Amino acid sequence: MRDHGTRGGTDWAALRARFHLPDSIVYLDGNSLGPLPRAVPERVRRTVEDEWGEMLIRGWNEAGWMEWPARLGDRIGRLIGASGGATVVGDTLSIKVYQALDAALRLRPGRRVILSDSGNFPTDLYMAEGLIAALDRGHELRVVAPEAVAEAIDGDTAVLMLTQVDYRTGRLHDMADLTARAHAAGALTIWDLAHSAGALEIDVTGADADFAVGCTYKYLNAGPGAPAFVYVRPDLHDAIAPALSGWLGHAAPFAFDPSYRPGPGITRMRVGTPPVLQLAALEAALDIWDDVDMGDLRARSLALCDRFVGGVAARCPDLVPALPPGTARGSQVSFRHPEGYAVMQALIARGVIGDFRAPDILRFGFTPLFIGEAEVDAAVAAVADILETAAWDRPEYRTRKAVT
Ligand SMILES: *Cc1c(COP(=O)(O)O)cnc(C)c1O
Repeated sequence: MRDHGTRGGTDWAALRARFHLPDSIVYLDGNSLGPLPRAVPERVRRTVEDEWGEMLIRGWNEAGWMEWPARLGDRIGRLIGASGGATVVGDTLSIKVYQALDAALRLRPGRRVILSDSGNFPTDLYMAEGLIAALDRGHELRVVAPEAVAEAIDGDTAVLMLTQVDYRTGRLHDMADLTARAHAAGALTIWDLAHSAGALEIDVTGADADFAVGCTYKYLNAGPGAPAFVYVRPDLHDAIAPALSGWLGHAAPFAFDPSYRPGPGITRMRVGTPPVLQLAALEAALDIWDDVDMGDLRARSLALCDRFVGGVAARCPDLVPALPPGTARGSQVSFRHPEGYAVMQALIARGVIGDFRAPDILRFGFTPLFIGEAEVDAAVAAVADILETAAWDRPEYRTRKAVT
């Protein structure tokens, strides 16, 4: 399955060769956990053995570990249209959502509504609920259907908090348009780019987004548990009073002052000690993006998604597309099927790895970095065969595992 040609200048075959992919697996779950870049093991080994092993605590200065969250933040910033010094890496995405939301609410003290949509990932909504309880100032989380967001923005909205690409259906929000509408109503915006960073062209600066957050273990391929990132519009930095006032966001961490003073710029969104080994993996994973043209990537991602949708439509009448035709999508394709879990287990047993999202969604991610037409066609054939022969209808495919 190595038919990846060159298109629009990007050498897809060369990019694919930079990943370790197990034999005879069609991996359509890079949107959940990106595969291993071949450069990662050696880069992590260097940090473990040469830096940690030999430098010991001197690694913080000599290997520059303390600067990595800002330096790698800037490298991610280039993928999302951020200017330098506006993006920093650390913690998990749930934590970054909490920080961004708290900061935004404090910047709109007279308003009480956090507007989001039912396509948002639950942890984003849960973190909002927890923050509302902690603040205890009568905030309300208002969750509307994705199509109803634009109409629901009004003079009560403090913050519009959305995930740009719906994790279940793949629906893509128009970041620039919704941000402009939010701003016209006096609200701020938080964009969760978990399913967009590394999946499509993003321009947080051009869209005038106030906050953006995302994770690095999905399309950015930095490995399980890799840290998140947060972007804040530069002119807001100095106005932010951080909720999680950890020592590494302090103006002078090693002065060990008894009280907190926020650090300059985006530094104040840092919390505690960075995960150095995982950052080493992230650094190697980010090297791949130096050779990717995001316009080419987007065009090829949509072509692969269309090919899959077309193939499934022709051969699998039982699968219902999760998105109405003509709706803008991210880099994934989803279908509904009442036995979706069992169908996905049967697919995985054949080496076609996608995932299942309750209640009935079969989800397939298509990233041109390592997926081409041959994988799409193999996946269509496997789905069609499993449905035609009811190969999914076995007790072992119905037993739910902890991670779906
Ligand atoms: C994957 C994902 C998360 C995961 O958050 P973690 O804290 O990293 O576990 C959060 N939000 C969205 C929108 C996601 O897609």
